[in-house]
Amino acid sequence: MKEIVVLSGKGGVGKSTITASLGAILSEKYRVVMADTDVDAPNIALFFHAALKKSRDIRASEKAFIDYGKCSGCLKCVNTCRFSSIVISHDKPLVVPFSCEGCGACAIVCPEGAIEIKAARNGKINVFEMGKAVIISGELSIGESSSGRLVDEVKTSARSEANMMGADLILIDGPPGIGCPVIASIKGSDYVIAVTEPTPAALNDLKRFLEVVAYFNIPTGIVINKSDIHIKSNQAIREFAVVKGMSVLVEIPYDISVPRSIASALPVVKAYPESSASKAICELADKMKSMITGTQNGQ
Ligand code: SF4
Ligand code: SF4
Repeated sequence: MKEIVVLSGKGGVGKSTITASLGAILSEKYRVVMADTDVDAPNIALFFHAALKKSRDIRASEKAFIDYGKCSGCLKCVNTCRFSSIVISHDKPLVVPFSCEGCGACAIVCPEGAIEIKAARNGKINVFEMGKAVIISGELSIGESSSGRLVDEVKTSARSEANMMGADLILIDGPPGIGCPVIASIKGSDYVIAVTEPTPAALNDLKRFLEVVAYFNIPTGIVINKSDIHIKSNQAIREFAVVKGMSVLVEIPYDISVPRSIASALPVVKAYPESSASKAICELADKMKSMITGTQNGQ
């Protein structure tokens, strides 16, 4: 079983759109588990109108809880919290859960032992059925942190589901950026698809993102989405790829079929299979088939 993760340094370059289409193509031939680790904005399941099979809460963060039966109202905890996460309400300390980092400092200074640091719900994992394939999707609760730990939980669930169904592939839609959830998405993967677009901002973010990937020493290929919107920036990405010794897997031209398919909540390869974008994504899928099977033709 292989794990392929689709990532981008910059948000909005088409990562999830491409992942959804790859999933649609590859699940026709292989047993696929799709893992949506873009936990701030999970939307892979929307592309497939997939039915929710089950859902469970994840308690991957910690927060301070005050036992008012023990609290003497000394307010030492208020002055100790560096995150201003304890406010005074009616002369009593009140924890603001959104900003509490669970650092435990307040519990240490509390003379009455009235504060306990406990696991708190910070999101959930949804499991969707989609024909032969399954989508495991992480969903961070509003205002919550610890998204990296939630991503870890999503990947653990995806691997467990993949083992149960004897899957050939876990296809991961990762989050944008270079932070903890990105690192959690990359860990243990066999291949990274780095999606970018020909703009100076996207190239700048791609460079930063690839520095993170280099730390894990995982084979990586670049996809240039909307490849023809700025020739000079396209050339800059290609030159950068040569310097880094990476291949540009495919160029996906700008194609009005893509936003139209997104508006219909369908993978573009399903909504407009003859479009130029779909043909380029099929080419990318063929390359991934070879990777999955370890053969030249993906058989
Ligand atoms: S430090 Fe403890 S006893 Fe003092 S106000 Fe805070 S919770 Fe209450
Ligand atoms: S656990 Fe840390 S962040 Fe949370 S209220 Fe206590 S001191 Fe503040």
